[in-house]
Amino acid sequence: MKNLWNKTDAEKYIKKYSKLGINEDIALRVYTSHLIGCNEKLVLHGGGNTSVKTKISDIDGDQYDVICVKGSGWDLSNIEPEGLPAVKLKPLLKLKNKNNISDTDMVSYQKRNLLNIDSPNPSVETFLHAFLPHKYVDHTHSNAILSLTNRPSGASLCRKIFDDKVMILPYIMPGFDLARAVYKCIKLYPKINCLILMNHGIFTFAETAKGSYDLMIKYVNNAERYLSKSKKRKSVIDKKFRAIDIAEIMPIIRGCVSSKNKYISSFRKNSEIIEYMNNSQASSYMSKGTITPDHVIRIKPFPLFIKSKDLNSTKTIEKIINKHVSSYEQKYKSYFHTNNKKSKIKKIMLDTNPNIIFLQNIGMVSIGRTKKDAEIAADIAEQNISVISKIQETSKFKTISKKDLFDMEYWSLEQAKIKKEKQLLCGNIIVITGALGKIGYATYKLFKDKGAEVILLDNNKALIKEFLSNHKDMCLYCDVTDSKSVNTAFMTIIKEYGGIDIVVSNAGTAPQGLMAEVTSESLKRSFEINFFSHQTIASVATRIMLKQKIKGCLLFNISKQSVNPGKAFGPYGLPKAALLNLCKQYAVDYGMYGIRSNGVNADRIKSGMLNDKLILNRSKARGVSKDQYMRGNLLQEEVLATDVANAFYSLAVSEKTTGTVLTVDGGNVAASFR
Ligand code: ZN
Repeated sequence: MKNLWNKTDAEKYIKKYSKLGINEDIALRVYTSHLIGCNEKLVLHGGGNTSVKTKISDIDGDQYDVICVKGSGWDLSNIEPEGLPAVKLKPLLKLKNKNNISDTDMVSYQKRNLLNIDSPNPSVETFLHAFLPHKYVDHTHSNAILSLTNRPSGASLCRKIFDDKVMILPYIMPGFDLARAVYKCIKLYPKINCLILMNHGIFTFAETAKGSYDLMIKYVNNAERYLSKSKKRKSVIDKKFRAIDIAEIMPIIRGCVSSKNKYISSFRKNSEIIEYMNNSQASSYMSKGTITPDHVIRIKPFPLFIKSKDLNSTKTIEKIINKHVSSYEQKYKSYFHTNNKKSKIKKIMLDTNPNIIFLQNIGMVSIGRTKKDAEIAADIAEQNISVISKIQETSKFKTISKKDLFDMEYWSLEQAKIKKEKQLLCGNIIVITGALGKIGYATYKLFKDKGAEVILLDNNKALIKEFLSNHKDMCLYCDVTDSKSVNTAFMTIIKEYGGIDIVVSNAGTAPQGLMAEVTSESLKRSFEINFFSHQTIASVATRIMLKQKIKGCLLFNISKQSVNPGKAFGPYGLPKAALLNLCKQYAVDYGMYGIRSNGVNADRIKSGMLNDKLILNRSKARGVSKDQYMRGNLLQEEVLATDVANAFYSLAVSEKTTGTVLTVDGGNVAASFR
């Protein structure tokens, strides 16, 4: 591992923060926190923590000795001074001889000694940082260190590899008990500069930011050097595998885990993942636990492992997946009850779904309430794979007991790290076609605000590029008139999200012409876009929904033209009339599966389709001004794209409504249903 300390960069940090009134101690704390946080082999997704002891003046004019320690919710890779809440040091040190304090007391004591009450909660390891007398303290969950400590002879191996400045501590759950153990240790051995916590990670400490960071890199390098030199055992890999298509499996998996709440399931495959699960020892090492305790809140104490012998027939796949997911549930319940019995404070069981599913020889599926959670779980699982594989090369993976993992998983301070999603559409996957047009985009924004995962499909490559340059949501190229293009887009969605809940079939064009004059080519072309493309989208989506078995919702952007033709607008209105029937037909055919089908009849919405030129044409066709045309409704108000988005949303959440069309036209009796 390279030491990335750079004097010029360090000076830049000092200069930048001094302009903001932040002292050099903290500026350098931010700098080396970034160096550590950007290295995935040291920490991942908010893991690890750092601190600095310094002096800060309060508004009373007095200077206080404080410890600025990583605050909850911050990530070392991009932490800022406000992510390092300052806690008064003296009150913290007063507790160093206390035998124990409760978690609630610990958290509240830390909070009431904050210099700024608006700061985030200081890390659960604040006391540990405070009890070490050194100015700078760095803590990581380094892969190399975990590769040494998570094996049967881990402690003695560490003693052999590291010098006498390194103290090896047995596993103790983070919190006040661990802080006390560290305090006792540093009192006995004041000359140490590093602590290795078995099955957890490493702490280094020094008087300078550079000193502490240098030590971190030095000791991690010691570990890496040992690992690279050690003789590898040949792993036994069974290569006689046959596997079925992932697109068949993903919606089934998603359906299985989403019976109560909806989940996102994401697929990953690479040679390391495949080797990990194709190893003859896989069942054994997978069941043991996580490489560092706080990973358990993201990937549970064990994954679900489905062997390839169960994954070779499309016909039986649904039954097999169901069987495995429910036996995982049983296994998890039994783990919960066994360990809950041993706990002083009784806990409430969390959801019983696996977070990680290994499909032998196919790949890994990660599951979370949001796409982000699923990705974090996958990243952490990959880190576990990497460390466990490394250990298995020379030894056997061994970690803390299931009871210790349970205590961590159900520790209220750990659970507080996971943001609970309470939005109505959380876990729902929405696909919108023509998503970068006015109506599509307004619909995207609304569903996203309601907590859904929204995937945008569009055929305008320049707009897609522009969207992706400032948004993180998935936006794919899709020509809705080309079934190949539609299939490719949906395949990507299935791999990344697991399935679909709601489709907003919105793409369209608005050709005009008098019926006696319109060519059959242009009429056919309009049917391709305004009718057949909706059928392609709806049929692909419905087949995925049927596999998931968790209901579903089709929403069509029809048009008031479907019931109230406008002059010279036949080429547009005819396919829209057919689309109205298509919408109803889906309601009839798939209602028994809980798949609803509804549409919106909107009129006169300014958009890429109804642009200024068309507004001029249509207003001329009706013999009114442009403004009169746009407000030509009972309410005499212009109808906006956001009004259409609201209608789509209302239909999406109206769970007992299907086969209906909602008009969004400001009121038009001629276009109303009778
Ligand atoms: Zn830790």
